[in-house]
Amino acid sequence: MPRTYDALVVGSGMTGGWAAKELTEAGLNTLVLEAGRMVTTEDYVEHVPPWQMRFRGLDDRRARAADQPVQSECYACDEWSSKFFVNDHENPYATPADKPFLFLRGRQVGGRSIMWGRQTYRWSDLDFEANLRDGIAIDWPIRYADIAPWYDHVERFIGVSGEKLGLPQLPDGQFLPPMDLNCGETLVRDAIAKHWPGERVLTIGRCAILTEDHNGRKGCHYCGYCERGCITLSYFSSLNATLPAARLTGKLTLRPHSVVHSLIYDPQRQRVTGVRVIDGETKHAIEFSGRIVFLCASTLESARILLNSATREFPTGLANSSGELGRNLMDHIMGGGASGKVDAPADRMPVGRRPNGIYLPRFRNLPGRPKSPFLRGYAYQGGAGREGWGRGTDLPGFGADWKRALRDPGPWHFNFYGFGECLPNHDNYVEIDPNLKDAWGIPTLRIHCAYGDNEWALMKDASIAAAEMLAAAGARDIAPFIEHNPPGKVIHEMGTARMGRDPKTSVLNGHNQAHDIPNLFVTDGACMASSANQNPSITYMALTARACAYAVDLMRRREI
Ligand SMILES: Cc1cc2nc3c(=O)[nH]c(=O)nc-3n(C[C@H](O)[C@H](O)[C@H](O)COP(=O)(O)OP(=O)(O)OC[C@H]3O[C@@H](n4cnc5c(N)ncnc54)[C@H](O)[C@@H]3O)c2cc1C
Ligand code: SF4
Repeated sequence: MPRTYDALVVGSGMTGGWAAKELTEAGLNTLVLEAGRMVTTEDYVEHVPPWQMRFRGLDDRRARAADQPVQSECYACDEWSSKFFVNDHENPYATPADKPFLFLRGRQVGGRSIMWGRQTYRWSDLDFEANLRDGIAIDWPIRYADIAPWYDHVERFIGVSGEKLGLPQLPDGQFLPPMDLNCGETLVRDAIAKHWPGERVLTIGRCAILTEDHNGRKGCHYCGYCERGCITLSYFSSLNATLPAARLTGKLTLRPHSVVHSLIYDPQRQRVTGVRVIDGETKHAIEFSGRIVFLCASTLESARILLNSATREFPTGLANSSGELGRNLMDHIMGGGASGKVDAPADRMPVGRRPNGIYLPRFRNLPGRPKSPFLRGYAYQGGAGREGWGRGTDLPGFGADWKRALRDPGPWHFNFYGFGECLPNHDNYVEIDPNLKDAWGIPTLRIHCAYGDNEWALMKDASIAAAEMLAAAGARDIAPFIEHNPPGKVIHEMGTARMGRDPKTSVLNGHNQAHDIPNLFVTDGACMASSANQNPSITYMALTARACAYAVDLMRRREI
């Protein structure tokens, strides 16, 4: 195959797929280098019932504990979907003993866009201005107006279903019709609207799942196990949507089993000229060159590639004249909430397996409202449902009556589950571990990351406020909770090559372009200067598309 291209894209997941689509549609011959194997719709198993699985859906727990002890901490890594998560022995990393971090990864064409939860929320200026307002870390170099057209662009292509609310803290988008709330959820929604009018709003989740046919993909049929794939292509993944669009241009070359080791830098021209790759199957080294390089390997893997690309000019990592490469790692905090029984109609049942829940947007520390004793805020996901067979161990009694009682649906339950903002912290960082290499001989990361007091204060408040809202809805047996999840568990890691205006304090400029190397772009979550509380992937996708347009423009003007 040719070794020289207009553009090289590292990674084929959420952001790599977007880079591939935008760059090929702009006419660039683009090589996408993907570390993992090829995946096709043949790999999708969302319709395989438990009784057709070897372990009846209970999983080969011994194998999972042996090969994927970290990955199996993720709810989606089960007997069906564990094949979409990495082998932890082949992909090791280190942490200090007192700072556990869950590094949850997908290594295949499509990356984690295959298993993601598809929750899709825009940021607002409340988020882009937060660092400046609070005097934390550095100011974002962009505002909502810079990214809004790119949110539109991404939403129109991927298809996002949701309800318009007109809330300044959670801008509306280009939505397909929303999914329905069930009767347990409308009961809680109405009670909250009555008690906190104009302040707290419960809505259906905004998600990248089609509620009607869209761009050649079919509307969802509510089978409900999206992390196993989707043969009707009804949810967005790079495999289902952006990579096929890129392929249609005739300009895409996709090379699986291509583990990028490092970037090649020409100090005379002060440009990256290509990448060093280890073939994932033969383990042979091979090089490819391109006029521009887009790093889309994910927040931590892109940082790792840059750290492994140190040169005489950049001894602490390529494009790291600021010293911020690998620093300011964030992951949302989750797990403050409450559950309870609600008095929804006993003669009604949810129909189908709706692959989505409720969303209750941030209501703390909004402009014009009382200040909370912590910074920023949180939002809730969750929902209502009826207990089924699974409640057996909680149901008193035995014998035939007990079995009969189990056949009837149990009470309506409601669960609020909080997701909070994580503040950027210079002391949360990654470095290359001098003693640890992956299965391809590439040095791997040592990750130092812990939540601070502000994150835990958010979860405590989320737990109390959730219990209050359930009480307002007349719920019984209300159980507030705070889970003590380590960072990484939310799988929203971001911030290791942050954007900023000043090259002395940031790695990238406001167009995801390295301050130090004009033909190098990093467009995954590494670029983030703060985390907000919304699920982040749509922001990564919008920033990627925006950076592509900028890079193509610079190339046309022969500036890079
Ligand atoms: C179970 C689960 C639920 C989630 N739910 C949500 C949600 O509801 N909403 C949301 O916004 N986000 C969610 N996320 C997070 C979301 O998946 C990520 O934010 C997103 O996939 C990141 O995109 P990315 O392109 O940076 O990385 P990825 O999608 O992970 O893609 C990176 C790709 O780069 C490849 N790669 C890595 N290193 C190399 C290398 N050295 N050489 C070549 N290729 C390499 C990988 O193999 C991979 O294919 C979820 C994630 C998971 C796992
Ligand atoms: S629930 Fe919908 S989006 Fe999810 S796998 Fe089934 S059809 Fe696809």
